[in-house]
Amino acid sequence: MKKILLICILFCVSFANAQKTYIWCGKLIDAVSNSTQAAKTIIVEGNKIVAVKDGYATPGKEDQLIDLKAKTVMPGLMDMHVHIESQTKRNAQAERLTTEPQDIAFKSVNFAYTTLMAGFTTVRDLGGSGVNISLRNAINSGVITGPRIYTAGKTIATTGGHGDNTNGLKKVWAGDPGPAEGVANGPDECRKAVRQRYKDGADLIKITATGGVLSQAKDGAGAQFTEEEIKAIVETAKDYGFKIAAHAHGAEGMKRAIRAGVTSIEHGTFMDDEAIELFKKYGTWYVPTIVAGKATGDSAKIPGYYSAIVTPKALATGPHIQASFAKAYKAGVKIAFGTDAGVYAHGKNYLEFQYMTEAGMPAIETIKAATISAAMLLGMEDMLGTIQPGKLADIIAVDGDPLQDITVMAKVFFVMKDGKVYKNN
Ligand SMILES: [Zn+2]
Repeated sequence: MKKILLICILFCVSFANAQKTYIWCGKLIDAVSNSTQAAKTIIVEGNKIVAVKDGYATPGKEDQLIDLKAKTVMPGLMDMHVHIESQTKRNAQAERLTTEPQDIAFKSVNFAYTTLMAGFTTVRDLGGSGVNISLRNAINSGVITGPRIYTAGKTIATTGGHGDNTNGLKKVWAGDPGPAEGVANGPDECRKAVRQRYKDGADLIKITATGGVLSQAKDGAGAQFTEEEIKAIVETAKDYGFKIAAHAHGAEGMKRAIRAGVTSIEHGTFMDDEAIELFKKYGTWYVPTIVAGKATGDSAKIPGYYSAIVTPKALATGPHIQASFAKAYKAGVKIAFGTDAGVYAHGKNYLEFQYMTEAGMPAIETIKAATISAAMLLGMEDMLGTIQPGKLADIIAVDGDPLQDITVMAKVFFVMKDGKVYKNN
């Protein structure tokens, strides 16, 4: 009995003395309220937020103080559409043929680091070679520094579809990729492709429901899966607790994906009124990626940047996204922040905030799209997305007030992820 009491006392004393971090916030955007709050203190213990107090609370002797009285503090930002393995460059297609997975791995370390330093503490990786799964593991185990990654591993496409990486190759090199490589035709192969992603260790499923801009194929917007195939993917994905992200530019493929029950539509470039109604009816998330649209449109104007088959698609597609976003926002579609980073240079994810506000979304809502809404899309709203007790301590600060000037989202001064400080300029 005495022993138990002693253990109890020791435990209580050590608990009371656990070192905490006090963060003084000149301004706080907690992503719960719609305004900036002045003079707050966030108290972090271990990897969690344990309290948010009015004023500048005094830390105990053992505690650490981080003084951000001159900054605006907010939850760690979340980009729901990145490709962390690669970054745009002239003639990237040719390089793919000579690049080994280990080359991709070394490069991706930097992209992950850059992303975290830009204030993005969580990202969804929507497709790569599969190295993205190892990258996630390396970050989680503390081997390298980067954001919390939820990865799709390899995307699932149809033969010749957007995401079939053998498009445009000589037949002898193209072969006939199948579900293991992320190419599936018919419901049975679709189910197998999902199960393969599960076996690979992916966190979610990404499909390419329509043609896309950067694939070496003619069609950039047409439907590429039947509704029956997408249904097979969605049903199987649900068995494993996977959410499903669907790349879609054209309206027909978008509608099929929404009706089949995907979680989010990526890009949504040519959505029509019927598609917007379906978004609302099914509660489907929209992840716009305006930056990517503009960046690919701009790169296409540089002679030889993209191949002859890609250039006209980039010119015809990219510039439409911002207007579609404006329309979807006005109509009340649920929007989560996503940029397609990698299609443009990693670390410039903040541009999306500017483009969203340009298109009519108030600054506070753009920040909520990149925090609490993104957390909801991931199904992680209990742990991520706001500054509240019980949430993981993913916290950033910027110079200036983004509700007055959204461009300050480019000036990330402080980054904490999982209770650990990675940047404090
Ligand atoms: Zn993408």
